[in-house]
Amino acid sequence: MLRTSYHLFRCFNKRGLLWKQSPRYLTEDEKRDLPAIGRYRSPWKMFKKEMKDYVEGNITPVEPEIPLETDALIIGGGAIGSSVAFWLKQRNPKGFTVTVIERDPGYTQASSMLAVGGIRHQFSVPENVQMSMFTSEFFRNIKEYLSVLDSDPPDVQFNHQGYLFLVPEERAEYLAKSVEMQNNLGAKIRLMNPEKLAQKFPWLNLDGIALASYGMEGEGWFDPWLLVRALKAKNISLGVQYVKAEVVDFDMKEMGLPGKKEWVLNSTVLKSPEGKLFKCRMSYVVNCAGPWAGQIAQMAGIGIRKEEGLSIPLPVEPRKRFVYVVHCPDGPGIEAPLTIDTTGVYFRREGLGGYYLCGASPSSEEEEPDTSNLDVDFSFYENHVWPALSYRVPKFEVSKLKSAWAGFYDYNTVDQNLIIGHHPYHTNMLFANGLSGHGIQHAIPIGRALMELLIDGEYKTIDLSRFEFQRFIDNEPIQEMAIV
Ligand SMILES: Cc1cc2nc3c(=O)[nH]c(=O)nc-3n(C[C@H](O)[C@H](O)[C@H](O)COP(=O)(O)OP(=O)(O)OC[C@H]3O[C@@H](n4cnc5c(N)ncnc54)[C@H](O)[C@@H]3O)c2cc1C
Repeated sequence: MLRTSYHLFRCFNKRGLLWKQSPRYLTEDEKRDLPAIGRYRSPWKMFKKEMKDYVEGNITPVEPEIPLETDALIIGGGAIGSSVAFWLKQRNPKGFTVTVIERDPGYTQASSMLAVGGIRHQFSVPENVQMSMFTSEFFRNIKEYLSVLDSDPPDVQFNHQGYLFLVPEERAEYLAKSVEMQNNLGAKIRLMNPEKLAQKFPWLNLDGIALASYGMEGEGWFDPWLLVRALKAKNISLGVQYVKAEVVDFDMKEMGLPGKKEWVLNSTVLKSPEGKLFKCRMSYVVNCAGPWAGQIAQMAGIGIRKEEGLSIPLPVEPRKRFVYVVHCPDGPGIEAPLTIDTTGVYFRREGLGGYYLCGASPSSEEEEPDTSNLDVDFSFYENHVWPALSYRVPKFEVSKLKSAWAGFYDYNTVDQNLIIGHHPYHTNMLFANGLSGHGIQHAIPIGRALMELLIDGEYKTIDLSRFEFQRFIDNEPIQEMAIV
């Protein structure tokens, strides 16, 4: 009885707050930003539905930190989820409620925390170039965007050392064309022949290299953790609610005209750390679950159910990648760019104490490591990374492997590119997934693009419409060739 009264009290109290957020209580400025999100719902109907669920035992009485409902529910509080939340709240702090559901607030497995933090303008798909350039510009003005009153201004420790792609003869023409496209979009990439490379990077072994491209502005690496921390702190100051819970299912509701019925996602089922189940109603749900995005889509029947529009899966799965930390006091030094060898093996400096990070992707599907854990395969370093690294930069022959970690790429198995926007059937589910190793540098423009899509109904800053889920239905993949 006491629990019921508490629940009733909370329901009324919550509805009172919601009532105040209905359009008639908003200022003209706030109303302007409301069309796509923040729709008014009848408090009485919501209350009746909630009581029905409660009486039928479908929901546990709500504890204070789990909201009964929210306008935008974001699954995953990594770089991309936090960026979506940031842009939504930044656009209109009071216009709608934004809730981020994160099952692991320590981010022990999130790709955002385990990334190498590289940012480059050198991609083969123009929108990827534009997104990276947007991030570089954002970093220039990060204090303006992410400062929080009475806290130290954010600093993501951007090292502007550039990227250096090395290619053999057979890929030289493709590289030159890519660089032309990148420079036409405003990037500052320079082609370098072996003579120029020898002058600028005397530590390189140039055997087998016909051409290289070197980013002279806005490229390098930053600290991904500092970016997520700054976004989260800013979001909390703007009123975003971060909730520790796991999304385990969706509740669907039948809607539409007779003969044209469709199922819409009505609420998200959340499991609290204590194992209790809750329902949180939402207008929109944004899938920012990184490597686990495919599983979230399956919970909504995507790729599982037979209805038209639901049969095609979200093609995202975790793929394990290793990062090795080597010590090489006499290595290439402070000016070395993030270098990608002809073999795909990369390295970059880490700090100023002679440490370097290095790694590579497996060369075939058959070599993909087991994804049931985050254990490191040291033999991959011995057999694959070290031989290529010490061949290309002989100074690494006397390096020492100090430590290593593994993380999951949010891998898009179809075309290794972003999947963004509404699902064609569950139109209130949006995606921001499948970055396949370039998501930390694209998190900022992706969040902005989704905000524009939700509020303005179209992409305004960078047109990302080619990256929508529809491309899988139309069988029109957009292959990114520069995947590391
Ligand atoms: C080793 C490595 C190196 C990389 N290097 C680079 C690089 O140099 N440059 C670059 O741009 N990118 C890089 N990336 C890729 C980049 O890290 C990712 O693309 C990006 O971080 C994805 O961000 P995200 O927020 O979507 O995912 P994540 O950071 O993984 O966040 C997803 C969150 O969702 C949460 N979640 C999942 N399922 C649920 C659920 N059911 N309920 C609640 N919460 C849930 C998870 O706990 C997680 O915190 C690298 C990745 C790895 C692994």
